Amino acid sequence: LLQLYQPLNFFGFVYREIKQSLIDMDRMFELMAVDYEVADKPGAPALAVTGATLEFRDVHFGYDPRREILKGVSFTVMAGKTTAVVGSSGAGKSTLSRLLFRFYDVDSGAILIDGQDIRDVTQGSLRGAIGIVPQDTVLFNDTILYNIAYGRPGASVEEVENAARLAHIHDFILAMPDGYKTVVGERGLKLSGGEKQRVAIARTILKQPAILLFDEATSALDTHTEREIQNNLREVSRGRTTLTIAHRLSTIIDSDEIIVLDAGTVIERGRHHELLAAGGRYATMWRRQQEAAYAAPKRELEGASP
Ligand code: ADP
Ligand code: MG
Repeated sequence: LLQLYQPLNFFGFVYREIKQSLIDMDRMFELMAVDYEVADKPGAPALAVTGATLEFRDVHFGYDPRREILKGVSFTVMAGKTTAVVGSSGAGKSTLSRLLFRFYDVDSGAILIDGQDIRDVTQGSLRGAIGIVPQDTVLFNDTILYNIAYGRPGASVEEVENAARLAHIHDFILAMPDGYKTVVGERGLKLSGGEKQRVAIARTILKQPAILLFDEATSALDTHTEREIQNNLREVSRGRTTLTIAHRLSTIIDSDEIIVLDAGTVIERGRHHELLAAGGRYATMWRRQQEAAYAAPKRELEGASP
């Protein structure tokens, strides 16, 4: 029995890890034959995306019913606009993205896309409409070509290469002995956090989804590369409804709305300059990061990590 139990436990572990990092789940479920925690309603229609307006309406949620993580979160990202969510670690930011991707259902309230409750549409159509660049990308043990093309099965090699160029990973791939045929992942070439992130960005660029979800999308990159990729992401997100969970505030100052989340509650909201003028939590976070950025070049020269 123990022998039987351990592999199951192992899959449970992998499953949780993957779920935390928000990889596209469908193939993983197939591979591991794990049940979905949420199910399609019988006869559920596909999500009908018009402009992709996204609304969180008084969302309450806890992983454990005894501990509420989101305590009535409401905000709307108008079609084609960008909202950024900031806040300290553990505030519930990534939980918002897990709920949007419907890894879990809300306890009360609702998440709506173009007025449709995401619980009323098929998960396949929901996930097809959302492109995610997660905090930690998990790659398949397959070629880098496969890992990028996964964003849109059936894409041509030219389209994959173009996406890789925009994600600043094309030259890196060409420099490898097997180029796009190089096998990556745990059993292949191990990529650094920043390289994996660029693969995820390329995958998303290729997918061209109506809704983009960046969870600290460029956090594993150095500041120079981050700035370059940020520009590319801005290109990709133009005209697409975008929810950005941000760590570095310098990357979100152009957002149409910034939401400050603290312990599962929205404590401030507004545009960058409005929040600075308000002199609250956001203004304090901004000042701290500016001071840290000023001190950073010296630290980099000394070779210490921030
Ligand atoms: P953030 O992204 O803002 O750092 P998260 O949304 O990841 O925060 O997590 C919010 C809270 O939920 C944290 O206290 C975290 O420990 C808890 N949490 C996250 N994932 C799980 C999970 N799978 N099970 C139980 N608690 C979780
Ligand atoms: Mg997070």
